[in-house]
Amino acid sequence: MMEADGSVLRQLLVERGVSRRAFLKFCGAMAATLALPSSFASTIATALSTASRIPLIWLEGQDCAGNTEGFLRASHPTVAEIVLDVLSVNYHETIMAPAGRAAEKSREDTIAAYPGAYIAVVEGAIPIGEGGIYCTIGGRTFQSLVQEVCGKALATIAVGTCAFDGGLPGANGGPTGAAGVTAIVPGANVINLPGCPMNVQNLTATIVHYLTFGSFPATDSLGRPHFAYGQLLHDQCERRAHFDAGEYVLAWGDDGHRKGWCLYKMGCKGPETFANCPTVRFNDRTSWPVKAGHGCVGCTMPRFWDQMSPFYRRLSNPPGFAVDVLADQIGLGLVGVVAGLAVVHGVASYARAHAGAAPAEEAPPLPPPSTEPGAPPPPGGLPGAEPGPSSDAPAPESPDEEAS
Ligand code: SF4
Repeated sequence: MMEADGSVLRQLLVERGVSRRAFLKFCGAMAATLALPSSFASTIATALSTASRIPLIWLEGQDCAGNTEGFLRASHPTVAEIVLDVLSVNYHETIMAPAGRAAEKSREDTIAAYPGAYIAVVEGAIPIGEGGIYCTIGGRTFQSLVQEVCGKALATIAVGTCAFDGGLPGANGGPTGAAGVTAIVPGANVINLPGCPMNVQNLTATIVHYLTFGSFPATDSLGRPHFAYGQLLHDQCERRAHFDAGEYVLAWGDDGHRKGWCLYKMGCKGPETFANCPTVRFNDRTSWPVKAGHGCVGCTMPRFWDQMSPFYRRLSNPPGFAVDVLADQIGLGLVGVVAGLAVVHGVASYARAHAGAAPAEEAPPLPPPSTEPGAPPPPGGLPGAEPGPSSDAPAPESPDEEAS
């Protein structure tokens, strides 16, 4: 249960043999992740050194437990793991020791003892079809559990894409009526950390922000923290220079693939995806999908299973050619600007790719931008976008069929 001496983290650091140097390095990394000036590292260090334990209830519904895996596999034994230990995980169906009625009592006791003072974490979608019978726990529907636990919490952190908007269980054709937390508990204070799975670094940073400032990080219109989802993945990607140079992978294992060229023509959804994967990476910051050689599938975006698939089809008209584009700023007006930039970029890209190969006037005509100024924004790449295919245009047979 909740500690009151205000020194939990400091004790844990000493007990685990974590040096002051390692702790300060972690605080610096957290400041960077939260997009704060480096001077805030000392502020974070001071706050964390006296942090009190926060009760937490972790609910898990329709999912693959990938986010729990990420939570449990926070690196060993790093400060991040210890910070997460500051959370007093009173109820977590996958990892808690109690079972049956005793487990249910742990959840009920936490709600009763800390009304409005505990954090709820929801992993997995919430099925609401057929009265919610597709997922029941302890004789109750998951839907009713989420409504009770999140409705009385200080805040809810929805981890993973399934808790964000239904994810895979909520994709077209799913029979269970799977939905995300915000749709089920519209009045709750929900911080969404979509991703398949979420990056535990973003969960840690969200908790650190609360422990340091007493508030949760600012979010976009979809409840996603700006620090993690405020920039296009494409603008942070280590392969971006190859995109700009017109150097693309054209087949798995080809020369460009071996050289680490851009995966845009292999279906990468980075130009329409907002996430910080390139900077925080996964597995102790070792790698992330694009670094490993696979295109981004856009898993942090709304309805990505429907909007971003087929995953290996090239985006027909990607936005995001402007650096520093924020998720909330992409809208009707900007789409027209981006479409224009896309054409400019396409001309430059084509020219680079064909330098010395043919006179400019012999180049095939550029396709017109498919999005007109004032037209609806491309689905999937925009907050609040209505469902609809984002990649309807057939992929080109060869790179010469299109110019970007
Ligand atoms: S299209 Fe994909 S691989 Fe290429 S630069 Fe953008 S995010 Fe990176």
